[in-house]
Amino acid sequence: MTDLVVTGGTVVTAARSFSADVAIADGKVEAVAPGLVARSPQAQIIDATGLLVMPGCVDVHTHVRLPSDGEPDRFYDDSVAAAFGGTTTFLAFNNPGTGISEEGAGSLLRGVQEFRDRTEGESAVDFGLSAVITGRHEDPIADLPALVASGVPSFKAFMVYDFRLTDDRLYEVFRAAIIDALVAGALAAGNVAARYHAETRPAYAEAEATHRAIALARAAQAPVYIVHLSSADALAEVVAAKARGWPVYAETCPHYLALTAARYASPDEGEVIRSVISPPLRTDADRRALWLGLRAGGLDLVASDHVPDRLAVEKRMPAPPFPEISNGAPGIETLLRVVHGTGAARGEISGERLVDVLATTPARLFGLPSKGAVEVGKDADLVLFDLSAQRTIRQADLHHYSDFTPYEGTVVAGSVRTVLLRGRPVIRDGLFVGRRGAGRFLERIPASTVARD
Ligand SMILES: [Zn+2]
Repeated sequence: MTDLVVTGGTVVTAARSFSADVAIADGKVEAVAPGLVARSPQAQIIDATGLLVMPGCVDVHTHVRLPSDGEPDRFYDDSVAAAFGGTTTFLAFNNPGTGISEEGAGSLLRGVQEFRDRTEGESAVDFGLSAVITGRHEDPIADLPALVASGVPSFKAFMVYDFRLTDDRLYEVFRAAIIDALVAGALAAGNVAARYHAETRPAYAEAEATHRAIALARAAQAPVYIVHLSSADALAEVVAAKARGWPVYAETCPHYLALTAARYASPDEGEVIRSVISPPLRTDADRRALWLGLRAGGLDLVASDHVPDRLAVEKRMPAPPFPEISNGAPGIETLLRVVHGTGAARGEISGERLVDVLATTPARLFGLPSKGAVEVGKDADLVLFDLSAQRTIRQADLHHYSDFTPYEGTVVAGSVRTVLLRGRPVIRDGLFVGRRGAGRFLERIPASTVARD
């Protein structure tokens, strides 16, 4: 029986936009067609006249931190921030920096279990885990059968394990060969200011790393997913591999699409520190190349790489020497607005491509078949988006755990009006109406079965 009908909106999928009502039953999309209200007289109605009806965003790259005794609300707060931003599913990591215990960091099995235990009943939206293999794991391969036997979603670990192993091997080579040498050079010359973080991470190093990741994956006959691609040169490596038909996928992040390295020249040290992110912000030519890559398909999706650092705590003022500055910036709440406002609203990508790169493709590549589209049978995770609204992004209006936003003062077209999670409002007319613990942990299916479409 139909519980809810979203009426009069413009439904946007990765393929097309069309006027239709969306009927929801038992948390799933039951029908997408005009005139559904008349057929469901007993259902609740949400009027979406004049609004876009999009799938909730699926943010596959966040560093949301586990709740701790000292900071019990940090996972919940960022999940609420995700909801405000139109993100109904996010993936987090469980590497040591996220607050996992020494024990949890020491084994894949215990790490996954600890993540599930400590996030139980915490999230306002659905979420999943990207298990991370680190050099501190005793014996990750030995853990895998136990993961299967215990019913813990091991397959995602397998897939992510493949990605991460490649990434880690690459990263070691990358660091040893290039970045460490540049950092040592900068420090020896007395160049310790925050802006040297960016100068020691040049685009050619990223291109080299991307090339090696692709080569290692090719050797292992594994698909590879390049995280936070930031430069035109690295993009060229991905485009070349895709042209050969190799299973290579790449994400970029909103900050590389919206901001540039011009920030590092700011006389305001706070501005520079807020922009210390890895990889660093690039040139305007890189920024434009990334939009072209998103349009043409060289880039597959956009994820936030959200890091809930605070200027007052993790980042610190005055800044220590640049190697000690915490890397990263918050973005879990601003993902959709920034990519829409700086991209779709300016004609860089279509509304359909916006839905594709923020919801449909992330759900497909990361093994979440119930997510990512306004389609019969999928979870009714919907965003009602108001194109006519114009908003200035301000930290004071955000809900994330950080104490700043890199987009302070940026005016963007479009705003998130209402968000449904499995058919239930989480945000209604701009207000949070969700519940702590309403979000479910998502067991993902093997990405290898869905990654090669
Ligand atoms: Zn990251």
